[in-house]
Amino acid sequence: MDLQLQGKLALVSGSTAGIGYAIARTLAQEGARVIVNGRSQAAVDEAVERIRTETQGQVLGHAADLSRADAAEELVRRHPGIGILVNNLGIFEAKAFEDIPDEDWLRFFDVNVLSGVRLARLVLPQMKRENWGRIVFISSESAVQIPTEMVHYGVTKTAQIAVARGLAESVAGTGITVNSVLPGPTKSRGVGDFVEGMARSSDRSFAQVEAEFFDKVRPTSLIRRFAAPQEVASLVAYVASPLASATTGAALRVDGGVVKSAF
Ligand code: NAD
Repeated sequence: MDLQLQGKLALVSGSTAGIGYAIARTLAQEGARVIVNGRSQAAVDEAVERIRTETQGQVLGHAADLSRADAAEELVRRHPGIGILVNNLGIFEAKAFEDIPDEDWLRFFDVNVLSGVRLARLVLPQMKRENWGRIVFISSESAVQIPTEMVHYGVTKTAQIAVARGLAESVAGTGITVNSVLPGPTKSRGVGDFVEGMARSSDRSFAQVEAEFFDKVRPTSLIRRFAAPQEVASLVAYVASPLASATTGAALRVDGGVVKSAF
C-alpha cells in the first residue's frame, strides 16, 4: 500500500527514542520529510543519522524542549509548512496518589497535554490554508484504565483524547483530521530500561519480569507481551496518511487488547 506521504512535512515530538523514533522512521520510509525532535542536540543528531541510513529518507533535526512555549514557537517558525503533527512527547512516573504534589500535576499537564495543544494551535493556520492536515495525539490505554500507580499520568492521557475530539469537531468539514492513538504497554526505551532495571535488581530475566507483569499487572492483555514501537508506528503512519481521510475524532487503540471493551 502506498501511503502517499511524499512531499508532506511531518513533526514528531520526542522522537529520538521509543515510539516517537519508530513513528519518525516509518514516516521517513514512506516518503515524508520528517523533523526529529528531542532535547539534546547529540541525541537528535544521532537519531537523524540513523533514520537517514535506515530509510534513505529526508530527515531534519530540531533539538528543543517542546514542553516550553518559546521552543514550540521557534520550531514552527523555523520549519514552515508542517502538514503532519504527531504529539508523541510524554512523560510517566509511578507515584502513589498521596505523594503527587501540585507541582507534579502541573508538570505532567504541561508536558503531556499543553505541549501538544500548543503545537496544534501553532500549525493549524497553515493546515487551514492548505485545507489539509493530520494531527495525532499519542495517548495511552491508561487514558481509559487509569493506573492507580500513576493517576496523574492517566488523567493527562484522558485529557489528550478530549482535546483531539474537540479539535476534530472544531475543524469539521475540512481536510484536516485529528485523532488520538492509544498504545498499550510498549517496549520503548523508557519502558525497556524500567523492566530491565527490575530484572537486574531481582536477578531475573527480562522475559520473567515481562511474564509476571502481564500475569499480575495487565492480565487483560490479549497479546500477553509488550508491543514493539513499530507496531504502534504502523497505525500512526496510516492515520497520518491521505488514505485515512475518513478517520477523524477517533480514539484508536493499538493496545494488544488490554482495554476490556470491544468498542
Ligand atoms: P520514551 O521515554 O521511550 O521516549 C520519549 C522521547 O521523548 C525521548 O526521545 C525523549 O528524549 C523525548 N522527550 C522527553 N521529554 C521531552 C521534551 N520535554 N521535549 C522534547 N523531547 C522530549 O517514551 P515512550 O515510551 O516511547 O512514550 C512515547 C509516548 O507514548 C508518550 O506520550 C507515552 O505516554 C505514550 N505511551 C507509551 C507507552 C509505553 O508503554 N511505552 C504506552 C502508552 C502510551
